[in-house]
Amino acid sequence: MSDATAFAEVGVPVPLGQRFTYAIPASLAGRVVAGARVLCEFGRRKLAGVVLAVRDDAAGLDPARVKPLVAVLDAEPVLPGELLQFLEELARYYVAPIGEVLRLALPAVEREVVRELEAQGELLPGEGPARTRQVGRPVLLAQATDRVEEPGRLRGQAAAVLAWLRGNGPTFVSELSARHGNARAALRKLVELELVTLERRSGVGRGTDAEELARDAPPELLPAQRAAVDAIGAALGRSEGFLLFGVTGSGKTEVYMHAIARCREQGRGALVLVPEIALTPQLLGRFRARFGDEVGVLHSALPEAARHRMWQRLRSGELRIAVGARSALFAPVRDLGLVIVDEEHDGSFKQEEGVRYHARDMALLRAHRASAVTVLGSATPSLESVALVRRGKLTELTLPERATRAAMPSVEIIDLRRFGPGPSGERLLSLPLHRALEKCLEAGEQAIVFLNRRGFAPAVLCQGCGVVQSCKLCSVALTYHRRDGSVRCHYCDSLGPLPERCPACSGVLTLEGLGTERLEAALAEAFPAARVGRLDRDVAAGAKSARIIERMRRGELDILVGTQMVTKGHDLPRVTLVGVVNADAALSIPDFRASERGFQLLVQVAGRAGRHERSGRVLIQTYNPDHPAVVCAARHDVPAFLEGELRERQEVGYPPFRRLALVRVSAVDEGVARQAAGRLAAVARKTASEVEVIGPAPAPIARQRNRFRFRVMLRARDRAPLRAVLLALARFLPELHRDVRVVLDVDPVSML
Ligand code: ADP
Ligand code: ZN
Repeated sequence: MSDATAFAEVGVPVPLGQRFTYAIPASLAGRVVAGARVLCEFGRRKLAGVVLAVRDDAAGLDPARVKPLVAVLDAEPVLPGELLQFLEELARYYVAPIGEVLRLALPAVEREVVRELEAQGELLPGEGPARTRQVGRPVLLAQATDRVEEPGRLRGQAAAVLAWLRGNGPTFVSELSARHGNARAALRKLVELELVTLERRSGVGRGTDAEELARDAPPELLPAQRAAVDAIGAALGRSEGFLLFGVTGSGKTEVYMHAIARCREQGRGALVLVPEIALTPQLLGRFRARFGDEVGVLHSALPEAARHRMWQRLRSGELRIAVGARSALFAPVRDLGLVIVDEEHDGSFKQEEGVRYHARDMALLRAHRASAVTVLGSATPSLESVALVRRGKLTELTLPERATRAAMPSVEIIDLRRFGPGPSGERLLSLPLHRALEKCLEAGEQAIVFLNRRGFAPAVLCQGCGVVQSCKLCSVALTYHRRDGSVRCHYCDSLGPLPERCPACSGVLTLEGLGTERLEAALAEAFPAARVGRLDRDVAAGAKSARIIERMRRGELDILVGTQMVTKGHDLPRVTLVGVVNADAALSIPDFRASERGFQLLVQVAGRAGRHERSGRVLIQTYNPDHPAVVCAARHDVPAFLEGELRERQEVGYPPFRRLALVRVSAVDEGVARQAAGRLAAVARKTASEVEVIGPAPAPIARQRNRFRFRVMLRARDRAPLRAVLLALARFLPELHRDVRVVLDVDPVSML
């Protein structure tokens, strides 16, 4: 049909890998640019896609089969060229559909606009550019108060809306309405009960706190900090990478901020990625105080409209610095000059659904393409980053001392085989830990007690048949939660009441093991005068966790019990004691990175102790006092741990010495899943001899959400053959039974 002379290659948001070519009709000539959204026919639907490239040759195309574009939606690209090319490379790297990758980088509002316009009939063939809806009118912000409701009083929508606000922090009413059918009625009731307050805001996106923060004066840098800033500053303008290895509290954040200042002096923008959990008001306050309103903050609790506005302000160059968690990797920072990944070892940089990208790895790629400098910072660098240093791809910068001149805390290993329970009778509250807590409280100081298990009891055991109660949908033991008397599965979040008797044999059930909820209760009983708080996913998500940390900072708590959430980056000056209840929990996970992760956890949590004037003390309880992760953490000897672990990985042939990909296969029927995994393994074996194909084998969690899970591991020295195998597998997927789900996980982080 087409006599067009120009064609657009378009990425369409469907889970298909390829790009699609459309003809640019004469009515749209000259208006189609890469990075802009267009409306195109896709089957019988019209979909919005993003123009990846415009070309004027029809080579390889059958003109009779090329359809014309329906409309152009943007006069200006919504995705700048730099970002667009990066996304294409990311899609190639992860063998991910370009359409899904594009979705990562476009805020939902941008995607929704099209549907809205279509519904309103505003799009006529050949028309464009269309209007984008402005979000600037006054809006209502809802926020949960500290009041506690009478148990059982709230039901349905009201309970759901309240839970959302508590978990996610202040939220715009429009967003609540979008999430919960009858949010407005629910809010009226909640406001009446004084559980929620409403506040009128004019103009979104100005950040949630309107008050202008006074700019602070940067401190005099220590020599090591200065050397680091100078090295980074001198590299600006080139695509160089650094690993900033600084002990906890060594002033890495200060180095980041100075480096950003240098980058800004050159007129370029900066991107700062931090783990979601580190996005505390404290950290953001530091950035705001230094850079004022040049900073845009992106986090998952941000309402969609605010996020969209932030995106626009970054794209327009009004904001020059983006700070955010994993997904901020895609922030459209103008003229990117510096990319910082703080706590680069953190597992939360890996997305574990949809496009399984690693924000640290991709930060290196994006910076490289943009001729920007990358700084990866950590007190416990990942082995991947250490390997990059050894291969000369990253330059190591070290901050060997704490910036406040505080000494590193003293760490003692408590061998649980030798020490029995203290006065509480609780096996995991040993006598030394009990005494240490006592002393800390007497001195009017604070303690953190870390336990990697939430809930009350991690297992419910039948005395009659010896069977542990497990989830009906997953091959996982249920955890008892006392607060609501439920047993829950931590893998699918299903819950039910605790049965009175064993459903199988009517035997007596006992609650086994120790979770944070039980630990909190045990500590409150053992130290009646102490104010004990808890921080884990059950009591706090998002903004609420920041509130608990804030209470600790203000001295309203004496002991804070918690999971991983207590280990990250918080600067709590009055904490002098850290107790690790059970170091072995993290070390015994069936994963080649268990030791590395356990070590990181121990060092990070120990780093919370005695960061300022008062000296700190750390007790690590373990049944494996000789484990290298425990021994090296106790000696603050990060290099020794890395050395040993690198040697081990090399011997067994794991990353960073080999490249891995996991093929995860699941189906409701076990036989179907096993067979599909077998067929995929066979395809992999046929494709490339340089790739070792291991499995199929049942996944460590063999059943999850009612689906049986198998996996095939691919291992190779180089990326190219591995990629060839993954492409072959992707092509083979349509041949599989339709209930089979397959996930290709390149550079997997979780092996479960
Ligand atoms: P990290 O990010 O390495 O954990 P921070 O940057 O949070 O460390 O610094 C730890 C503490 O030391 C903070 O209270 C910070 O204000 C302080 N600090 C950092 N650099 C300096 C400096 N050069 N002089 C004085 N205090 C500093
Ligand atoms: Zn389950």
